[in-house]
Amino acid sequence: MNICIIGGGLTGLTAAFALADEASVDVLEASSITGGLLSSTRVGDAWIENYYHHCFSGDRLLIGLMGELGIKGGLEWRKGSTGYYVDGTIHPLTTPLEILRCPVLTLGDKYRLARLTLSAKKYNADELDDVTARDFLLEKCGRHTYEAFFEPLLKSKFGAMRDQVSAAWMVSRIAIRSDRGPEGERLGYLKFGYHTLVDALVRAIREKGGAVHTGIAAHSVRQMEDGTWEVNGAPYDAVISTIRPSVLEGLGGPALPDIPYQGAACLTMGLPRDVTKGIYWVNMKDEAPYGAVIGHTNFIPEERYGSHIVYLASYFSERLPADHEQTMINDFCRRFAVRPEEIEWHFMTVDTAAGPVYTTGYRSLIAPYETDGLYMAGMFSAPNYPERSMEGSVAAGYEVAKRVMEGRA
Ligand SMILES: Cc1cc2nc3c(=O)[nH]c(=O)nc-3n(C[C@H](O)[C@H](O)[C@H](O)COP(=O)(O)OP(=O)(O)OC[C@H]3O[C@@H](n4cnc5c(N)ncnc54)[C@H](O)[C@@H]3O)c2cc1C
Repeated sequence: MNICIIGGGLTGLTAAFALADEASVDVLEASSITGGLLSSTRVGDAWIENYYHHCFSGDRLLIGLMGELGIKGGLEWRKGSTGYYVDGTIHPLTTPLEILRCPVLTLGDKYRLARLTLSAKKYNADELDDVTARDFLLEKCGRHTYEAFFEPLLKSKFGAMRDQVSAAWMVSRIAIRSDRGPEGERLGYLKFGYHTLVDALVRAIREKGGAVHTGIAAHSVRQMEDGTWEVNGAPYDAVISTIRPSVLEGLGGPALPDIPYQGAACLTMGLPRDVTKGIYWVNMKDEAPYGAVIGHTNFIPEERYGSHIVYLASYFSERLPADHEQTMINDFCRRFAVRPEEIEWHFMTVDTAAGPVYTTGYRSLIAPYETDGLYMAGMFSAPNYPERSMEGSVAAGYEVAKRVMEGRA
């Protein structure tokens, strides 16, 4: 059986890995590197993710995949500290004492926030699909907590679409981030970066006889008279697409309801010193051209890279301003008292399809695994609702592989 997989991100590579024992797989990846949103760039002797990544203790399939690939020994669990940047000051928000001391929220706000965090896992996301996060949070936490805490986060992540985001997404975010002890969140990282995972997957697929092609985009898909599909003019017994459904439709694929997507632009920098007070993840309340400053080397030891690594994270829904990179750098230098010449190196990564926007009613948009005989899996599949993740992509990759094999049977 001859299978084409469009997209060499985590979903496509997982599907290829699961199928390569039984079938001949061809992965087509448009970019010159594999990994998609989980790809990395080499910095000196180390690899750094183009977008900050960590995993969670409940990521059963992802951790299982690491085990199958023989790299699970490199998984380390580390403390993830958080902070909130308000009126030019970073307020640490990791320990209960720090949260109690934070002047941004009143004691009553903190009580309501703690109650919501503790109960987040109990909510049924499906039942909150039609409720906006805004209405839900206003009801549960009150206007002040919403405006002082949640609204800036929603704004930095979803911009103008923030009022349409569903409460299903919100509670799943709160639930996933509630695996915390007194020292903060417990987050997982692969010792030599998630590059190790992408690399091990590609190697394993090739060892099983599969092919992973980089720099080759699928530019056309076409259904044949017998119901099978061809990609770029080559016939396949089965095709799995992991790219955004509306893009696939533009290549000749089946028509599905359009899923709203957003883009991400992430600036990665090497600095000679820490600028976030030892904190890993600082969310911005103050208006800035980025929504979070992520001190990667306050999570992973700096010695591994030889520089302090900082990400500036931003999302966009329409077009990214042409000068966004310089605007981010200028703002960051001013706000965090960094001289431009202190930035040892930097690069920006942009992806226009960085993830779906989970608007109300999103559940009805979740793409089926198969339409007109063409298989699909990715950030738009059920395991990635109501928030996309590495775990969701691994789950979708395994599930579509299973369905392709069942289809053959
Ligand atoms: C900023 C950011 C931070 C994140 N942090 C975390 C985190 O901390 N923890 C976590 O669990 N998850 C995180 N995620 C989510 C995680 O990265 C994704 O869920 C996962 O990597 C998606 O994998 P995918 O294969 O479904 O999609 P993608 O990675 O988007 O892969 C799709 C691939 O298809 C390729 N492609 C597109 N068009 C074509 C074409 N025509 N032909 C061939 N190839 C094509 C693309 O180049 C891409 O490589 C983060 C995502 C972002 C954007």
